[in-house]
Amino acid sequence: MLQPPHSSLQVAAVPAQRVPVRDRDHDAPWHTEAVCRRDEAGLFFAPSKEPTAARLSREEAAKRVCARCPVMVECREHALLQPEPYGVWGGLTAAERRVVLARRRRRELELKKARAAGRIAAAG
Ligand code: SF4
Repeated sequence: MLQPPHSSLQVAAVPAQRVPVRDRDHDAPWHTEAVCRRDEAGLFFAPSKEPTAARLSREEAAKRVCARCPVMVECREHALLQPEPYGVWGGLTAAERRVVLARRRRRELELKKARAAGRIAAAG
């Protein structure tokens, strides 16, 4: 498992609004540009026995950090492909990632059935 970019994240001031995402250096590994590289606020992973209201608040704060991260797409795909079972990655909670993965699996199955039935051309 890749070390989460936000394993020691710094979130001094989390803006309430979206901040325009700048272009990123595509030659560097995506996690080197993670906004959350120093998670000093501990926003991205749940502490043990976290009450629901606190979890929801923490996750929303983490998502606000993700919203201004230049590598959000790469991070999200990484977390979906692994799959990463815990924490907020790419602006999605673990539960939200499970929903995305279930939708992808369902769509893949539908496409496979459609190809088998000759309704669409096989992928090349
Ligand atoms: S999208 Fe979020 S979790 Fe992923 S690297 Fe950026 S700030 Fe961290």
